[in-house]
Amino acid sequence: MKNLSTVSAVLLLVALLSSACTTVPVTGRKQFNTQSDVKVAEMSIAAFEQMKSQIPISQDVYYNEMLRNVGERISQQVFADMPLAEWEFVVFDQQEVNAFAMPGGKIGVFLGLFQVAQTEDELASVVAHEIAHVTARHTHERLSQMHAASGVGTILGIGAAIAGPAVIGNSVSVNAGSTIMGLYNIGAQGQLNTWDQAKEAEADRIGIMYMARAGYDPNAAIRVMERMVEMEMSLPQNNYNSTHPSSVERLNALHGYLDEAMVEYEKAKEFYF
Ligand SMILES: [Zn+2]
Repeated sequence: MKNLSTVSAVLLLVALLSSACTTVPVTGRKQFNTQSDVKVAEMSIAAFEQMKSQIPISQDVYYNEMLRNVGERISQQVFADMPLAEWEFVVFDQQEVNAFAMPGGKIGVFLGLFQVAQTEDELASVVAHEIAHVTARHTHERLSQMHAASGVGTILGIGAAIAGPAVIGNSVSVNAGSTIMGLYNIGAQGQLNTWDQAKEAEADRIGIMYMARAGYDPNAAIRVMERMVEMEMSLPQNNYNSTHPSSVERLNALHGYLDEAMVEYEKAKEFYF
């Protein structure tokens, strides 16, 4: 009997743990996740609507169409990874070199980003990275950890995150440390902790595969990251701190994924061209 009850206790524990776990696409990493897609998406949509009401939206036809094309193609590829997502892609009229993702499929790109992502393939590398944050449920994971660690509820966590958009100088910027934003983090304000750095690396890894599967040349991801390295180099040294993710490291990592991504790209090309 004792053995039996031990077995049932173990089974129960396994059941509990597996119900609080989801699997990250591409990497296959198991993550702790107690948050429902629907609930997190609902709150993100509210945050995104708030951003849209606070930050001017670009009416530039060329960039909007480019983002719409890229967004549609990549989001179709990831349907199985996040079937409930309601994808939306918005160009914000700010000269900041940045983009962000929110759960539920809300992607924002700042006009300034087109300085480093100049072609459709290059933009695809950024959008694929942002979509990867969404399908990898990075916000769910962060909220789950916050909840488990401190009992802070989801609403409070997201509430703190909604305060995210912060005015820096004369431009509205997205708080890099906020819970809900998966930032592409370029520029001086990105002071990320280890958790964020790991998530950036994972989104790079997943993103290059996504873009390739959508028929975009993975070499474009390398070009964008090279421009980010150049931008970082040109920043004054005091804008860094030790936790700033190194674009050089990210560039090296991307080179390591290139062969695998090119195989996917060659397959996808037949479909898209
Ligand atoms: Zn990111």
